[in-house]
Amino acid sequence: MASMNIVNVGKAYGSLTVIHGVSVEIPDGEFVVLVGPSGCGKSTLLRMVAGLEPITFGDIRIDGKVVNDLPPKDRDIAMVFQSYALYPHKTVAENMGFALKMRGENRSDIDVRVHKAAEILDLTPYLARYPRQLSGGQRQRVAMGRAIVRDPKVFLFDEPLSNLDAKLRVQMRAEIKELQRRLATTMIYVTHDQVEAMTMADRIVVLRDGRVEQIGSPLTLYDKPANTFVASFIGSPS
Ligand code: ADP
Ligand code: MG
Repeated sequence: MASMNIVNVGKAYGSLTVIHGVSVEIPDGEFVVLVGPSGCGKSTLLRMVAGLEPITFGDIRIDGKVVNDLPPKDRDIAMVFQSYALYPHKTVAENMGFALKMRGENRSDIDVRVHKAAEILDLTPYLARYPRQLSGGQRQRVAMGRAIVRDPKVFLFDEPLSNLDAKLRVQMRAEIKELQRRLATTMIYVTHDQVEAMTMADRIVVLRDGRVEQIGSPLTLYDKPANTFVASFIGSPS
């Protein structure tokens, strides 16, 4: 659990600026949803927070400490990917423990953490199975398990549910919120789905063309959209 501060962060690819100085302050334990149309810069911003992409200007702070130059593994951040990023030839337990194994942690510590994460995610009966033997929802839980075993201070999600069917998506939203309640961890969740944003977020950051249009609670965005873009995106009547 940690506070996260994104301070006037920008990104340029060559002469093309795609993020124009975005600032978001996220207190400990908050669930923030980044929402906006395809191409507005959600993934780029998340990847800069994770350290997977260098920032062009600005600062990323975790618990007040600037982490701009830290590699991803030293940031205490874990990113949850879509479930198709699982290793098909590794079991559930191996998938979940792989990052720890790569970090050189010993087998019994890895076992303990994998079992603890499996318990949280109701995956204990499936630890010896392979991804192809699981349902879509179980696979997505394994993808979350890979993040949980690392015991990160901040979780990042980049459209984790977009390849699931509608019914499962609704169920997984609830599971992710429940996970956040149990772990009390700061989470940044990216989606282009306004319903997902409105139902999951403590606060929503609306991005458009690499700029913040508005930051606020779902209710604030619905009742007092800052402009017509936010209003039409969120789907409020004004
Ligand atoms: P989103 O996740 O909101 O769909 P992205 O962060 O993927 O948006 O992309 C934001 C913008 O940055 C887009 O215009 C995209 O084409 C551009 N972009 C992303 N990655 C690169 C890259 N490696 N090189 C050049 N342009 C990129
Ligand atoms: Mg994206």
